[in-house]
Amino acid sequence: MSKIQMTTPLVEMDGDEMTRILWQMIKEELLFPYIDLKTEYYDLGLKKRNETNDQITVDSANATKKYGVAVKCATITPNAARMEEYDLKEMWKSPNGTIRAILDGTVFRAPIVVNNIKPNVRTWEKPITIARHAYGDVYKSVEIDVPSAGTAKLVFTGDDGKVIEETIHEFDGPGVLQGQHNLDKSIESFARSCFNYALDTKQDLWFATKDTISKKYDHTFKDIFEEIFNAEFKSKFDEAGIVYFYTLIDDAVARVMKSKGGYIWACKNYDGDVMSDMISSAFGSLAMMTSVLCSPDGNYEYEAAHGTVQRHYYKHLNGEETSTNSVATIFAWSGALRKRGELDGISELVDFANKLEKACIDTIEAGKMTKDLALITDEKNPTVLNSRDFIIAIRETLEGLL
Ligand code: NAP
Ligand code: MG
Repeated sequence: MSKIQMTTPLVEMDGDEMTRILWQMIKEELLFPYIDLKTEYYDLGLKKRNETNDQITVDSANATKKYGVAVKCATITPNAARMEEYDLKEMWKSPNGTIRAILDGTVFRAPIVVNNIKPNVRTWEKPITIARHAYGDVYKSVEIDVPSAGTAKLVFTGDDGKVIEETIHEFDGPGVLQGQHNLDKSIESFARSCFNYALDTKQDLWFATKDTISKKYDHTFKDIFEEIFNAEFKSKFDEAGIVYFYTLIDDAVARVMKSKGGYIWACKNYDGDVMSDMISSAFGSLAMMTSVLCSPDGNYEYEAAHGTVQRHYYKHLNGEETSTNSVATIFAWSGALRKRGELDGISELVDFANKLEKACIDTIEAGKMTKDLALITDEKNPTVLNSRDFIIAIRETLEGLL
């Protein structure tokens, strides 16, 4: 069989620890034998980030703007312990944060569903995708520990000198205060990313806030979504046979629990943070979650939703056997390859990506899996494989599909 040819390189962002080990195995076993893999390689491993003063992260994000599609391995976000472990010059920022700030956009996370791992919610038949707005609100808030009685005010001073002022509360004793913001521009790009992703994946889009209580803040989100939908997307949704649906966040939560799944749930930043953990754990495991950042100008960065699996890496370094699940990382590659194939009109690449995903699912459904899944499957006697043997089992299934 001749290898599939690519015309445009993928931006490849290598990473850290156990996922870096899996990254190499995936390329060797599942990609190189079948594809003449074209990538522009950026090593986002912490060592290289430190050497380049994190310039490599910025370069990789700019390359994503140039080529349109990236695939990223999990990376360490440094903390105090990592400063020492890697002898860092600085506590470099989260690469995901840096990349997001350059690309702008929305993170979409969806569970990978297999028939021998049942979701905890009985009615869920199809995956629920969470679209999380990744800017502002409580994540960029300013807080005050109110020490004593006094008056708190919300004051906006325009560049033209115009002042808008509201009394928040007249304190008669100690308390707490918080100021939040968001930007029309960011909410608009969030809305467009969600509408485009819904069209791309042919799924309904749900959006919910607490606009009955938050009559200006949350209501602005609701209004911007509605305006953009009506002006730019309504006819496209009608054509695709999909629906945009807005409701209150508490109503949305109740409906999600009774739904069959199979839609995108757009969430404000905090709601998305909380709900994506709920959705992923109720569907099974973080190792079975895909994640893609979609920018408003049509760039895509695919990754796994989990981290670098540090504990397994140290076992690996000690020469012990590991059973780390590579599925989410394989899906990052298949997602990126499929998108590249679609953009460049290479149907063999799209077909390969689909088969690679099917091979992962079929392998698990045949009872061959890593330890994390063996703990939650309905399968009576699952075959528990180590990290490499699981990838080799996927390759065997893939050979049968190609
Ligand atoms: P983690 O990598 O998400 O792993 C936490 C635990 O979840 C693991 O110890 C393991 O449980 C289980 N797990 C996660 N992924 C798994 C997989 N693929 N297969 C099997 N089990 C899996 O989080 P962490 O180890 O606490 O964090 C390590 C580093 O990841 C941190 O430095 C953090 O900054 C970084 N991180 C990066 C990203 C990203 O780049 N997107 C996201 C989150 C965290 P058991 O130990 O019980 O087997
Ligand atoms: Mg969280």
